[in-house]
Amino acid sequence: MKGRTAVITGAGRGIGRAVACRFAQEGAAVVIAYSGSEEAAEETAKRCRKSGAAGTMVVRCDVTVPEECQTLADEAKKAFGTIDILVNNAGITRDNLLIVMKEEELTEVMETNLYGTYRMMKAVSRIMIRQRYGRIINLSSVSGLAGNAGQANYAASKAGIIGLTKSFAKEVAARGITVNAIAPGMIDTDMTKRMTDAFRSAAIRAVPAGRIGQSEDVANAAAFLAKEESSYITGHVLNVDGGMYM
Ligand code: NDP
Repeated sequence: MKGRTAVITGAGRGIGRAVACRFAQEGAAVVIAYSGSEEAAEETAKRCRKSGAAGTMVVRCDVTVPEECQTLADEAKKAFGTIDILVNNAGITRDNLLIVMKEEELTEVMETNLYGTYRMMKAVSRIMIRQRYGRIINLSSVSGLAGNAGQANYAASKAGIIGLTKSFAKEVAARGITVNAIAPGMIDTDMTKRMTDAFRSAAIRAVPAGRIGQSEDVANAAAFLAKEESSYITGHVLNVDGGMYM
């Protein structure tokens, strides 16, 4: 990935941080976007520099705010001259059974997961189309493929991301841009630490590989899709789930 610039949303922690560090190891310049803690994002940048990043930049970007998405793309382009790789990683859960789910719990999840992905793809699209090169990787989920009780809002947003991914993949395939999704299963991050012990244990028992996944498992898949050599793979959903969904 030498000479490439990657923008990663939600890169202050969890899977986003692991992806940034993995890309840094491959020699990319990484733009670390965060919405909450600047300190956490700076820590990611420090780790990326240690791993060999060609450059790092930390930018605040709440993906629910359209202007901040555009500013992130503009600042990355200004600093590094290009954006070659975009990873739409920012995501939230607001779990509840549908019967008691509030409208706000649906809206909030859609705004971040689905609309955020749409906004960022749009913000980088002109740059990638003009340079006739791009790698876009969107974080979906096993929930988006299989559905999950208590996650109707989240599953709908992640299924929507697959629709966005495949449609945009078709729109830009002839321009040297690939658009793929990764569907992680159960990965050990803050998101899954919030689950009850009983739910977490049951979910891990449903993984044929017999273990919870690590952020690095997802980062390895992202690195594969982000490289030049994956140029003939587009509109694909890559499951990183230890066999949970098959
Ligand atoms: P975490 O909860 O650990 O981290 C979520 C990340 O999203 C944080 O970096 C957070 O940024 C960012 N984020 C949240 N809201 C916004 C927002 N409005 N604007 C910008 N960034 C935002 O989650 P994971 O690392 O586990 O998940 C990363 C992605 O992978 C998500 O899309 C998730 O849905 C998906 N995924 C995760 C699975 C898992 O088992 N962990 C399984 C399947 C999919 P900040 O800290 O700055 O607020």
